[in-house]
Amino acid sequence: MKTFDVVIIGAGLAGLQCAKLLSRCGAKILLVDRKTDLAKGIHTTGIFVRKTLEDFHFPAGTLGKAVRCVTLYSPKLNALKLESDKDEFRVGKMGKLYESFLQECLENVVEFANGTRYISAEMKEAETIVKLEKNGEPFEIKTKVLVGADGAISRVAKDLRLEENKEWIVGFEEVFKNVPLENEPQLYCFLDARLAPGYLAWITNDGEETHIGVGGYAEKFIPREALREFRQNIAPKFIDLKNAEMTETRGGRIPVGGVLRSIAGENGLLIGDAAGAVSPLTAGGLDPCLRLSAMAASVITERLQTDNPKVLLNYSGELFRARFVSRLWMRRIIAMVSNQKLLELGFEFLRGKIGRKFASHVFFGRGSFPDVEIKINAKSDSLNASLLKN
Ligand SMILES: Cc1cc2nc3c(=O)[nH]c(=O)nc-3n(C[C@H](O)[C@H](O)[C@H](O)COP(=O)(O)OP(=O)(O)OC[C@H]3O[C@@H](n4cnc5c(N)ncnc54)[C@H](O)[C@@H]3O)c2cc1C
Repeated sequence: MKTFDVVIIGAGLAGLQCAKLLSRCGAKILLVDRKTDLAKGIHTTGIFVRKTLEDFHFPAGTLGKAVRCVTLYSPKLNALKLESDKDEFRVGKMGKLYESFLQECLENVVEFANGTRYISAEMKEAETIVKLEKNGEPFEIKTKVLVGADGAISRVAKDLRLEENKEWIVGFEEVFKNVPLENEPQLYCFLDARLAPGYLAWITNDGEETHIGVGGYAEKFIPREALREFRQNIAPKFIDLKNAEMTETRGGRIPVGGVLRSIAGENGLLIGDAAGAVSPLTAGGLDPCLRLSAMAASVITERLQTDNPKVLLNYSGELFRARFVSRLWMRRIIAMVSNQKLLELGFEFLRGKIGRKFASHVFFGRGSFPDVEIKINAKSDSLNASLLKN
């Protein structure tokens, strides 16, 4: 049976970032994904916010053009235009980004098992037996640390007996080429209780491709049908889809219950969507993927250096939850607004002086997943963590 220091299940942004950082310290790592090609079956629009773009390095060619203007529309298509003098967003070219992160991992001798499915894990005292399957053939490996980066419905979380996500919205979008871009790329967001109950519909582009999508509570709409209606009846008022050619569809669940409390045990930990690390208000999960994975990598490094499994227990969702209280409340309020009239009223508030300030803060604020600096006292297993200002 092959033995690794760390086995990471899932090569989305969270798993790749964690593998990339850990590989720099010489750990023996296996990265596993059921996909054979990471550039296929992507399920994110890939909008990165300014703070993420400022704090992390993105390899050349992995980001679209900058977006400085957001227009929010009410159900009656009244508009609230918000403009910034800074580059606020960029749509990532996610296939290229995943491939370039993977390339760095491979250069640092991370083993990558693609087309390989995680089946289960059996926890022993200081190690875990992980059962995988490739081409219908099951096999087992051993690891000191098992990392669940396997998305919103995490099998790893269950097997490590950690907390699992319980609250979601779903997002579904189509990506098109051949949509003429007359001006600079923009982000259009639409409030609509029927087509996007509890969230938004959106249109944006990266300078080359255009994304049209809807998101909301799964029990309140049928995403595929809502998207068709949105694309046929509303999107053409804003973009020219005459020659548009669909290149892919993207969709999936987005956890909105806030970062989970129990995200680590002595045998492993969770990152990204598996840890619930998504803003409950904006449903943005890419910034948390990068930040939480960096923290996870530092805790795992410490665990390997000290050979003390208890060190992993320092990685706790409790460190972050306080920062999400107001966003969780706002999510609950938004979830309750289920008719167009109420949304229209809420929108009128946003067009007022205070509302506009609030909307600008949500779209252009420099909020991000909290950065946590942790210093671990390996002798006593105690944690000295402080939130960095951001
Ligand atoms: C439609 C949509 C649009 C979104 N748009 C944005 C946005 O614009 N900006 C933003 O900040 N956030 C956005 N989000 C949220 C964001 O995309 C996610 O939070 C983020 O991508 C999560 O990354 P992850 O690595 O944790 O999980 P994932 O990207 O889900 O990666 C999980 C990986 O694990 C693999 N895997 C799962 N199970 C197994 C298994 N049993 N065996 C082997 N491999 C397995 C999967 O193949 C996958 O590659 C969006 C989400 C959706 C659904």
